[in-house]
Amino acid sequence: MIRFALRCGAGHRFDGWFRSSEDFEGQARRGLVACAVCGNTAVEKALMRPAIGSKAKAEAVSAIVNEAPGRELEQKTRVAAEAPSDRSVERVKELWTALQNEVRAMRKKSDYVGPRFAEEARRVHYGESEKKGVYGEASREEVKALHEEGIMAVPMPALPEDQN
Ligand SMILES: [Zn+2]
Repeated sequence: MIRFALRCGAGHRFDGWFRSSEDFEGQARRGLVACAVCGNTAVEKALMRPAIGSKAKAEAVSAIVNEAPGRELEQKTRVAAEAPSDRSVERVKELWTALQNEVRAMRKKSDYVGPRFAEEARRVHYGESEKKGVYGEASREEVKALHEEGIMAVPMPALPEDQN
């Protein structure tokens, strides 16, 4: 089976699985391929843009990834405490609060896609998705593969409200 990025007459983009390109063409001609959004059967393959040359776009895309908790790294949280005269703990606390606020702001601008992060980040990168940015969970291997394709994926710290 091959996955094709498809596009309906109304401009919706979605994916479809077919045995071959001919299989898709045949089904589309007979009106058997309908848009996942509106049911339109005027469906054609969407152009796949190569990764090369889309670097500028990749940088405009804010793809965010939360490291999947519990996988291979069972790290304890490092904590710091110092004598009251030392200001650096206070400074780190301020920066940490600012970072958390940045993470919240980025999440607001992005769509949560959960464990489908790697797939969705590729769709955004290659112009196959309407989304401007996505965040979700990915393994280290998936993040490494994305970086090798030139897709930006930034690990994000967990927020206190994530525990709920
Ligand atoms: Zn449609």
